[in-house]
Amino acid sequence: MRRSDREITDPNRLKEVIESCFCCRLGFFDGEGVYIVPLCFGYEETETERIFYFHSAKEGRKGKWLHTGTKVGFELDTGHYLKEGANACSYSAGYQSVIGTGRITVIEDEEKKKDALAKILSHYGVFAPLPGKLSAKLLIYQMTVETLSGKENK
Ligand SMILES: Cc1cc2nc3c(=O)[nH]c(=O)nc-3n(C[C@H](O)[C@H](O)[C@H](O)COP(=O)(O)OP(=O)(O)OC[C@H]3O[C@@H](n4cnc5c(N)ncnc54)[C@H](O)[C@@H]3O)c2cc1C
Repeated sequence: MRRSDREITDPNRLKEVIESCFCCRLGFFDGEGVYIVPLCFGYEETETERIFYFHSAKEGRKGKWLHTGTKVGFELDTGHYLKEGANACSYSAGYQSVIGTGRITVIEDEEKKKDALAKILSHYGVFAPLPGKLSAKLLIYQMTVETLSGKENK
């Protein structure tokens, strides 16, 4: 990172930034070109992995092209504000952001799907019970992070 003074390296701070973001933008190359799509997400960290969870309809561009094994890029950002400057060229943006790459796994198991949905909902502070049976039209998938960097302009 060119501005290494802005790099977030503390894993706890990275987690904090991810958890304070509203949406995650997934980017990938599909048969139609480069595609970036904003999505609500759930997040968890284990000893060895960082995992994002997403849900959507099976139909549509993303549903058509996202499969287990699809390599994706992602970006999240939060804490935006305008940093005023003495002149036009010294204005800038305050923010925290995270950029990385990962691999998609489509979740097929009904109980695992429910766990993933619960994680997505809990990211937004929703803890309502899920229906007994999920809609067959629902696509639920996870992205296992392969690379990740964080940056903060205070
Ligand atoms: C903050 C936020 C959170 C969201 N969370 C979710 C979520 O959790 N799950 C979910 O399924 N969807 C979510 N959406 C909507 C999502 O971004 C897509 O619009 C939707 O999932 C349809 O994607 P698709 O690939 O099936 O597109 P399609 O419906 O197949 O549309 C194809 C074309 O429509 C255009 N398009 C699609 N989406 C958008 C968009 N958001 N803005 C502008 N143009 C678009 C693109 O040109 C694309 O090529 C969210 C959107 C926002 C802004």
